[in-house]
Formats: sequence, structure tokens, C-alpha cells
Amino acid sequence: MDCLFCAIIKGEIPSKKVYEDDSCYAFLDINPQAPVHCLVVPKEHIASVDAINSESADKVAAIFTAIPKIAASLGLTNGYRVVSNIGEDGCQSVKHLHFHILGGKKLSENMA
Ligand code: 5GP
Ligand code: ZN
Repeated sequence: MDCLFCAIIKGEIPSKKVYEDDSCYAFLDINPQAPVHCLVVPKEHIASVDAINSESADKVAAIFTAIPKIAASLGLTNGYRVVSNIGEDGCQSVKHLHFHILGGKKLSENMA
């Protein structure tokens, strides 16, 4: 399977790592849309939020346990946004589950 984020997790494609544990990996987005823009992914390939099931739920729980630690390490003391795009209408461009952490400024109130 040809997956960009699986290649990043394996180190085949370089990335700016901000966090790693047994089940998740976080790195800076190559095209930041806010002063701080980081992506958090499960090390196991899951296609999107839409593919989460009871077997993968522990991986997702691990990501959400890591997010506050990652946000603190990035200095996001005044809040931030977590976003996941899903499928065509959600404009998901990489088909490996990922959560965007966006912050470092007052973000737009517009979500869509
Ligand atoms: P999506 O549009 O699927 O929600 O988000 C994919 C994100 O991956 C985009 O924000 C895009 O900038 C980021 N991205 C795409 N290719 C690379 C890459 O090679 N390295 C890094 N660090 N980010 C990438
Ligand atoms: Zn993958």
C-alpha cells in the first residue's frame, strides 16, 4: 500500500517530529495554515475517522491522550483547534487518519 503518512512514520520520508509514543506520531504540517500546525497520526494505518471501529478505538484514545501533551509542548497555552477531514466532502487529501492541531493565534470562527 502506497501511503504518504505510513512512509513518514517509517522515516522513509523526512518530517519534523514533535511527539512519538508506541501508537502515535506527531509532526509539523509541511504547509502550515496557522502559526502552529501539527498532525497527529496513529502508527497503524487507519483510513479516516470513518474507518474507526471498536478494534482501533484504543489507537484513537491514545491520540487524544497525547494531544494535550503535544499542545503544551508546542506552547498552545491559550487554546487551539483539533480538526480531522474525512473523505471527499471533508477535503481529506491523505487517506491515513490524522488530526490537525492548529493554534498560535486567535483562529477564525468560521469552520466550514
Ligand atoms: P488533509 O487535507 O488530508 O486533512 O491533510 C493533509 C495534510 O498533510 C495537509 O495539511 C498537508 O499540508 C499535509 N502534508 C501533505 N504532504 C505532507 C508531507 O509530505 N509532509 C508533511 N509534514 N505534511 C504533509
Ligand atoms: Zn498509512
